[in-house]
Amino acid sequence: MMATTRRFALKPNTTVTPCPRCSNNTVFTGCAVQVAEDCCEVYVICKCSYDPTEQNTGHRLEDVWGSVDDENLMAALSCWNDALADAATKH
Ligand SMILES: [Zn+2]
Repeated sequence: MMATTRRFALKPNTTVTPCPRCSNNTVFTGCAVQVAEDCCEVYVICKCSYDPTEQNTGHRLEDVWGSVDDENLMAALSCWNDALADAATKH
């Protein structure tokens, strides 16, 4: 399986939901994994390796090329927020 990763850091912000494990909301690794011939999943993992989409891949961004450019990383962060919000309502 092909995977691409890109570590990145954001400026301090209030738009990204803090990691429930370590409270980080600025340092992440963007990952793109090919899941089909013409489909990749793009998602972000916290610096502590927490991945809220691990059990819930429906919250991953689907992209044909699986690039981890700025635009996809921002979209993947939005998925991170959604996944955490979803996890919070299930407890
Ligand atoms: Zn974390």
